[in-house]
Amino acid sequence: MTSLLQEWDDLPAVDHHCHPLLHLNTKLTAIDLRRPFTEAIDDNVIREHTQHSVAYRRALRILAAELGCDPTEEDVLGSRNEVDPVEYANRLLKKSRTGLMILDHGYAGGEAMSPAEHSATIETPQLHVVRLETAAEGLVASSESVTDWLDAARSMLRDAVDGGAVGVKTIAAYRAGLQLLEPDPSRAAADFKILRARAAAGETVRLLGEPLCHTLLVAAAEECSRLGVPLQVHCGLGDPDEDLALANPLGLRRLFVEPRFANLKVVLLHCYPFHREAAYLSSVFPNVYMDLSLAIHLAGQDGARALEEALGLCPTSKLLYATDASRFAEVYLVAAVLYREALAGALGRLVDSDWLTRAEAVEAGRQVLSGNAERTYQLIAP
Ligand SMILES: [Zn+2]
Repeated sequence: MTSLLQEWDDLPAVDHHCHPLLHLNTKLTAIDLRRPFTEAIDDNVIREHTQHSVAYRRALRILAAELGCDPTEEDVLGSRNEVDPVEYANRLLKKSRTGLMILDHGYAGGEAMSPAEHSATIETPQLHVVRLETAAEGLVASSESVTDWLDAARSMLRDAVDGGAVGVKTIAAYRAGLQLLEPDPSRAAADFKILRARAAAGETVRLLGEPLCHTLLVAAAEECSRLGVPLQVHCGLGDPDEDLALANPLGLRRLFVEPRFANLKVVLLHCYPFHREAAYLSSVFPNVYMDLSLAIHLAGQDGARALEEALGLCPTSKLLYATDASRFAEVYLVAAVLYREALAGALGRLVDSDWLTRAEAVEAGRQVLSGNAERTYQLIAP
């Protein structure tokens, strides 16, 4: 089989969607290390089963090769817990050949470094996106009405982009689902009243339900369109909270066809198991892009197959590299190794079966790893 893996050895990737690492001063337990390699939050699953997933078995071997130890959980943990954590994190990130991290600081699955700590500790260059729902929750208490709140959210997005944010990320999939209909203003007003009362009582404000989440999503999409920054939309797997049946990107059709969103770039994150749907959307609509982050390091060979399936319809100019890594340096390295392997395998097979020439496949890989993100996020002067 055609091997393309070494073709991109010197090419640093743009990881267009990942999360910050946790503070580096803690020693990892087996349970800690298993958590980023499963969607499960049930401790019984993590204690009894996660270590038997093929994704975790492979992760241990990748890490053992890096640490020079036996590929057992015990040895990997023992070796990594002995070394200087800052040097180790930077070494693994360097090994992952990540040239730029585009971070969503809104989630890390634990005690994450702040943006300032992160950029001071991690040597890899970093940019960030705004996590829409989290930021908008912070604006509820100071807003009198839904209209006020949406105005404040729009203004927050403008300020964030002025301050260097390169995109906006929405988690509407697990707060309301992605079946995007015209939100009902009276239901939105009623829900907002309840949320505001909670904020006034000092309770946690958690944005939930279609009326408010979809009203906010539409407003943010208009603002992103105006600002020229991509809207990252969580689709498919990625949070055990969500109803996966509602996380299909086909429900976002309004964003792709309504004239007011004509300039909106939508990047569909994760996508699996809806990667075929995402590939279809990417192939049909000019400003839709997709990635396979998370699926690649969670779904074993199925992640690699998903990448190959995506390239059935999705033009190679529309697939972006991302890991969705979070928490520990190990995840960034494992996800990167597996992603490059999956990409090389998929493109190599396309060469073997005469869909692409070798030169076309090599160039396609370069675009997936960095060129597509550079264009989509306007990281280089046009
Ligand atoms: Zn993410």
